[in-house]
Amino acid sequence: MFLETRQLTKQFGGLVAVDHVNFSVEKGKINAIIGPNGAGKSTFFNLISGFYPPSSGQVMFKGQDITRLPPNKIAKLGIARTFQTTHLFEQANVLDNVLIGFRLRTKSNLIDALFLTKRLKREEEQSKEKAFEVLKFVGLTNMENKIVANISQEEKKRVAIALALATEPEIIFLDEPAAGINPEETEGLANLIEKIVQHNITVCLIEHKMKMVMNLAHKIMVLNHGKKIAEGTPEEIQNNETVIKAYLGG
Ligand code: ADP
Ligand code: MG
Repeated sequence: MFLETRQLTKQFGGLVAVDHVNFSVEKGKINAIIGPNGAGKSTFFNLISGFYPPSSGQVMFKGQDITRLPPNKIAKLGIARTFQTTHLFEQANVLDNVLIGFRLRTKSNLIDALFLTKRLKREEEQSKEKAFEVLKFVGLTNMENKIVANISQEEKKRVAIALALATEPEIIFLDEPAAGINPEETEGLANLIEKIVQHNITVCLIEHKMKMVMNLAHKIMVLNHGKKIAEGTPEEIQNNETVIKAYLGG
C-alpha cells in the first residue's frame, strides 16, 4: 500500500472532526476528497501531514508508520501539501517565497530556515536551481522577481504548488487549489494537476468545484461530519443517494 490511513480519528473537545477514516491512496493517480463545509477534509490533510496529532488511528506511508512524525520529517519522506488559504510572504518576491517555503518545510530549525548560515550556502545554490525549475514547471517562468502581493490569486495558487513541489514529493496533497479563481483559470490549474500526475507524482485533491473533480479524479472519497460516507469512481459518486443527501444538508 502506498499511503493509507487506518481508523484515523481527530477530536477537538467534543467534536469528532475526523471519525475512524480508512482511506488508501492510489499511486500515480488523482485521488479526490469531497464533502460539505466542515466535513473534516482539511483536518484529514493536517493529520496526514503531521500538523495535528491524531486522537487515534494510524497513517502508513510505503509500509512505514508515520503517525505523529513532525511535519518536516513527513515532508522529507516525500509527502507535500498546500494549504486551503495560501500563506505566502506577501511582501517577498516569488523566488524567495519558494526558497523560504522549501526551507521551512524541510528544516526543523527556524533559524536555519530564515537565516543563511555558511553551512547552508551551498545547499542554497542547489535550492535556487530547483526553485527556477519548479517555477517553470508550474507556469511562472520570468515571475521570480515579482512581489507576491502584486500577483493574481491564481498565480499565488501556483506559487503555493511550486513550493510544495520544491521538496520533490512522491505525493502532493492539494487543499482547494481552485478556490477563489475564475473558470478559465480553473481549467489552467486542472491542466497543471494533470501535468503533476504525468510526472509520476501522486495527487490527493480536496476541491469544491465538482466539474473539476469529476473530470480529474480517478477515485473519490466523500466525507460528512468526519465520516467516510462513500468512495468510488466519479460516476458512482454522482449517483450515490447518500452523497446527494449530504450535499442537500441531510
Ligand atoms: P473542511 O475542510 O471539510 O471544511 P475542517 O477540517 O476545516 O473541514 O473542519 C472540520 C471541523 O473541525 C469543523 O467543525 C471545524 O470547525 C473543526 N476544526 C477544525 N480545526 C479545528 C481546530 N484547530 N480546533 C477546533 N476545531 C477545529
Ligand atoms: Mg477545508
